[in-house]
Amino acid sequence: MVAHIVHIAPPSDKTLGLYPRMKGDAATKPARCLRTDCYRCDGSGVFSTLGMCFRCGGNGVDPTTKAWAFPSDWSDEQCAEFLVKTADYAAHRRELAQARKAKKAAVILDANVAANPALAAVISPNEAVAELLWGTPFFDMMETARKFPLSEKQVVFMVSLFEKASAADAVVATTVGSFFGEVGERLEFEGTVRVVMNTESDYGTQRFVILDTVDGGQLVLSGTSAWLWDVNEVGDVVTGKATVKAHNLKEYRKVTTRQSVMTRAVALKG
Ligand SMILES: [Zn+2]
Repeated sequence: MVAHIVHIAPPSDKTLGLYPRMKGDAATKPARCLRTDCYRCDGSGVFSTLGMCFRCGGNGVDPTTKAWAFPSDWSDEQCAEFLVKTADYAAHRRELAQARKAKKAAVILDANVAANPALAAVISPNEAVAELLWGTPFFDMMETARKFPLSEKQVVFMVSLFEKASAADAVVATTVGSFFGEVGERLEFEGTVRVVMNTESDYGTQRFVILDTVDGGQLVLSGTSAWLWDVNEVGDVVTGKATVKAHNLKEYRKVTTRQSVMTRAVALKG
């Protein structure tokens, strides 16, 4: 942001009446005015080849920053000093207002905790639990708890969200299933459909199927072959023959599943 102090042109007789403080010597001694250049046109008032800048209306002055007018006999240093002081004062006031707000919020939260002791255990979740609580209404409700008295129903809901997240956090990381065959092997397989969806790629729409195997592992099939489109229902048992392309580990909420990516899959006849 570019700010500089410029002398504005003396007001015309027509506008003079609108600014009482500029009456008198204004015509000969214009007020100083701090202006910030409009960032869209860099203060030129013209935007590239499109003509007049619509952000500033062509006058080059940023429309959202405050414009200050100073007594005409102030030096540039005096103007600058005033601006620093003003900024400091505003920052100080902001700090005070924030502190006041925080204090008020703490009082309301304390009252909520006093009325609902169950709340005390959930208001400061640890980092891992907090991460699991993101995406739930928990933190919105925490904000509410700092502004208004909570109803019993709200507290029960917050506690249930917290307990759910804590339970998920308490799960010990495990790895399940086993890899299917060796990479490069062509094998017959059987699995229960867990996920079936279409994916878009440069080569068109592909069918994407994940199967659960009996030992808890997963098989990933994808392709365009017709029989894959016949796989529709989650829970259906699918049998086929395919070549093992890769072995991957897929982690979801601390459970790592051994996944085998299959290629050139065909349905088994009969
Ligand atoms: Zn502009």
